[in-house]
Amino acid sequence: MYRQDFPILGREVYKRPLIYFDNAATTQKPRCVVEAIDEMYYNVNANVHRGVHYLSQKATDLHEGAREKVRAFINARSTAEVLFTRGTTESLNLVAFSFSEAFLKAGDEVILTVMEHHSDIVPWQLVRDRKDIVIKVIPMNDRGDLDLEAFKALLNDRTRLVCCCHVSNVLGTVNPVKEISRLAHEAGAYVLVDGAQSVPHFPVDVQDIDCDFLTFSGHKIYGPTGIGVLYGKEELLNKMPPYQGGGEMISRVTFEKTTYERLPYKFEAGTPDYVGSYALGVALDYVQSIGMNKISALEHDLTQYAMERMREVEGIRFFGESAQKTSVVSFNVADIHPMDLGTLLDRLGIAIRTGHHCAQPLMQRCGVEGMARVSFALYNTREEIDAFIEALQRVVRMF
Ligand code: PLP
Repeated sequence: MYRQDFPILGREVYKRPLIYFDNAATTQKPRCVVEAIDEMYYNVNANVHRGVHYLSQKATDLHEGAREKVRAFINARSTAEVLFTRGTTESLNLVAFSFSEAFLKAGDEVILTVMEHHSDIVPWQLVRDRKDIVIKVIPMNDRGDLDLEAFKALLNDRTRLVCCCHVSNVLGTVNPVKEISRLAHEAGAYVLVDGAQSVPHFPVDVQDIDCDFLTFSGHKIYGPTGIGVLYGKEELLNKMPPYQGGGEMISRVTFEKTTYERLPYKFEAGTPDYVGSYALGVALDYVQSIGMNKISALEHDLTQYAMERMREVEGIRFFGESAQKTSVVSFNVADIHPMDLGTLLDRLGIAIRTGHHCAQPLMQRCGVEGMARVSFALYNTREEIDAFIEALQRVVRMF
């Protein structure tokens, strides 16, 4: 129904119609987003914030307008709480650096989950090297649900921050982040939710979750690459030092001392990606014109249907069978190497992802080196899933 909005879906690969099932890695872009980027460069381009001239003011209005769209989209209290970054990874690194400078000392504890993406593990290891903090990990059961009892047992008076993906990019599990927030806050800790795989798929409300930080990437929600968001509670961001210096983040500079701009600019050094922010705003308008609840229902149906059909394949093993699951299905078939599966499906026009999915500790937990993964977006169809099953059966027969 929405396929005609995405020109790339009309192309062929290897003379076959493209079936794109790698949406957790990045989504395709609707025409309105591509046109927004064109429009910005053709008609508006000028550096933001600094100019008194017409184009600079116009670009600034569009950039700041996009910030307001993001604020409304995640229900932040104020645009001061919405920082533009290059993506989830940069947002996570910003928090790791800046939060740890303000709040962490040797012996303090940060809790992660076993299903975190490397982008929410490695920055904390860098902090551990710098600050001698302790990293603890929430385990999960075999269905891919976090063990909340084990989580409670990890919390203590040294816990400063709990970092949890809202949705696992491997298992598709939707984690109970509201409950996790409540428990963490009761223990006196702050909470970071990695929303890279949730914000594109269902309504996310930061006030309802009551998280202290939330991260997401534009390119996973039909927006451009190179733009992302960090939401942070104003009170916390005000206590944290800047992540990078230069450009718009200053109030006044002398060689003796620099004072910083107010939020959110304190954390936005250098020329921001105002083309990206504007196009991200257009992407958010696009998904809202469909409705996040509708997108969620559509993708839920595709996920259920895909798993049901995939069970027909002999030797299939799923990773992640939580009752709370969305749009990501990871699997292996018998002892076929996932890379072989992916390569052969590709020749049949079907794009899937294979490998460790930037979650090697989770691969270890599941006892595998890698997995194959299909992940869905609002433009996928049951017919594509049928074609995928036929192709998968064909590939499996070859082994
Ligand atoms: N966190 C999760 C759960 C992800 O799925 C991803 C990307 O796959 C990231 C973080 C990193 O996002 P990005 O590469 O856009 O910075």
